[in-house]
Amino acid sequence: MQTLGYAAQSPDSPLAPFHFERRDLRPNDVAMEILYCGVCHSDLHTARNDWGGTVYPAVPGHEIVGRVTGVGPEVTRFKEGDLAAVGCLVDSCRTCDQCEKGEEQYCRTGLTGTYNARDRVDGSNTYGGYSKHIVVREEFVLTLPAGLDPAKAAPLLCAGITTYSPLRTWGVKAGSRVGVVGLGGLGHMAVKLAVAMGADVTVMSRSADKEADARELGAQHFLNTSDKAAMKAAGSSFDLIIDTVPVQHDLMPYVPLLDVDATLCLVGQLGPAPDLNTAPLVLSRKRIAGSLIGGIPETQEMLNFCAEKGVLPEVEMIRMDQINDAFDRMEKSDVRYRFVIDMSSL
Ligand code: NAP
Ligand code: ZN
Ligand code: ZN
Repeated sequence: MQTLGYAAQSPDSPLAPFHFERRDLRPNDVAMEILYCGVCHSDLHTARNDWGGTVYPAVPGHEIVGRVTGVGPEVTRFKEGDLAAVGCLVDSCRTCDQCEKGEEQYCRTGLTGTYNARDRVDGSNTYGGYSKHIVVREEFVLTLPAGLDPAKAAPLLCAGITTYSPLRTWGVKAGSRVGVVGLGGLGHMAVKLAVAMGADVTVMSRSADKEADARELGAQHFLNTSDKAAMKAAGSSFDLIIDTVPVQHDLMPYVPLLDVDATLCLVGQLGPAPDLNTAPLVLSRKRIAGSLIGGIPETQEMLNFCAEKGVLPEVEMIRMDQINDAFDRMEKSDVRYRFVIDMSSL
């Protein structure tokens, strides 16, 4: 089927309309008309080739909510007209130990990303949600629970699961002391989810003007990361800190904030972290860890949790043709707190 999307043609060209083909339905495929697509910082990193390896044209978008328009003959969980969702993964080997555990994001053969990846059947480049339609195999399509507003839910598919997964991995529960570094798309979801789990939440931000928002999102405390005295006073008082900062930065200011046995979990920047001092890690059994999105079962669990608890992102709805301006604003941290593209504008 012919469809229309927005693609980057090179690292420095703006995104622009791009006509391309979506594959015919394979027996286990679900076809969707995309209604909404969130704008993740990873979309910007990919369009601009920040990580290397971007194949152009690149159609970003992995926070997808849509309506099912057709299913292959072997599909059992979806039918035409259903609301459905797709996140960062559209395939994996489905047989290795990680896939068997439902942690397809850590597939031994490498996950197949929703965009900028090679389709496992025909080798074509995958194109993401900045488009009118998408075709995804059934196992990687999520059910959108009733009660989640489809116009707001899209960011849960990446920002939501990427922060939900470490909160669960490190056992956050009522009373856990959770810090969130960087109040952007991921950061504000981390706050809402941790609050919904009953945690005591602190936003750690370089933007003092975000304090009121942080409290409105449910955080009990706000730590201005440039305030040295306040950082010192917060020493050893966290069980888990989730760091969402998208660029290279010094991790050492956050390590003293961890209690014994606590974890600083990195979900933002990919690449070298300079000036790492192992002493505080060794001396207090502290951990620096990382985490990548979440598997399909955990993503469904997160969507159900959000429906039950009424957790939804703060979104600014944009038209497709505003995407380049949205990227520029995201780079300046001028988004409160996630852009969502209304795909009917395309
Ligand atoms: P975002 O909305 O742009 O938010 C990032 C936040 O980090 C900003 O709001 C800002 O918060 C802070 N920040 C930005 N630039 C900074 C700088 N130079 N120094 C210090 N702090 C800075 O981005 P996002 O969509 O949340 O994504 C964040 C990162 O996570 C990106 O690198 C993205 O690629 C990555 N990501 C990873 C996964 C995963 O699976 N691990 C999944 C999705 C995204 P303050 O103003 O409060 O300081
Ligand atoms: Zn993302
Ligand atoms: Zn696998």
